[in-house]
Amino acid sequence: MCESWQERFAETPDVLKSAERPQTTVPVLDFKIGDGEFVTMAGPCSVETEQQIMATAEHVRRGGARILRGGAFKPRSSPYAFQGLGLAGLKLLACARQATGLAIVTEVMAEGDVPLVAEYADILQIGSRNMENYSLLAAAARSGRPVLLKRGLVATVADFLRSAQVLLAHGNPHVILCERGIRSFETAMRNTFDVASLALLKQISHLPVIADPSHASGHSDLVPALARVAVAAGADGLIVEVHPCPAKAWSDGEQSLDFAAFDAMMAMLDPWIALREMELAQRCNRQHLEELQMMEAVG
Ligand code: PEP
Ligand code: MN
Repeated sequence: MCESWQERFAETPDVLKSAERPQTTVPVLDFKIGDGEFVTMAGPCSVETEQQIMATAEHVRRGGARILRGGAFKPRSSPYAFQGLGLAGLKLLACARQATGLAIVTEVMAEGDVPLVAEYADILQIGSRNMENYSLLAAAARSGRPVLLKRGLVATVADFLRSAQVLLAHGNPHVILCERGIRSFETAMRNTFDVASLALLKQISHLPVIADPSHASGHSDLVPALARVAVAAGADGLIVEVHPCPAKAWSDGEQSLDFAAFDAMMAMLDPWIALREMELAQRCNRQHLEELQMMEAVG
């Protein structure tokens, strides 16, 4: 890694890539995130009903997702909007895991809820609004579950890395970074997808990095293009909102893909993912060759 990035982010040393720590892999059920396989997490913004979550889980699994997303505790802009089903939502997610074999990622919003959410979830999501809630980060880290850390709405890359450092410093190495768009002067989209940060994070950090094209764009018709850009930028995976009937969703319907749109996106991504795998294999071969040459040179 370029020396200036090391210096620039010197206050978060554990997050930075090094010869000793080139890439972290995060174990989830029987697979790993950051291991070369492109991992898709998909599901509704909120868990609403048994029928909704089961139908979505079955569908996204058939479409190639490995992880089911769905909020049971929801951070909402309005105090009068749907706040999530809470424990009932967690139980529905556990049923969906049982039925499909998908792992579960769901948000935890309060420190006191960490033990409960960790009982049901395979990955704890820390939402954008809580990225700098250090006591929540500490509790989530101590749960022992992998943590999906979403970038704050107005967080710089340095702020983002600082929060990741807090998780690592509390003894949890299994951290996944998520670029989900940031606030800017642009209002056509819900947020501004910071694809440069995705490339930068892949370059400087050993942690897996994923993208959330749903919250980054706020519009379902833009989601596939942003997903494609995320693959090209080197992301390790995606987290994307999918709903059986977006028009009737209790939250974030305008940015949710219906089943047909999810299938179309996954099919469209296939060749891009294949290209990414080819590039990774080439890079691996090059590295191997360089190591062999170095060994020969030293005798
Ligand atoms: C979500 O994933 O539904 C969510 C609320 O995301 P964010 O924290 O990125 O806004
Ligand atoms: Mn949402």
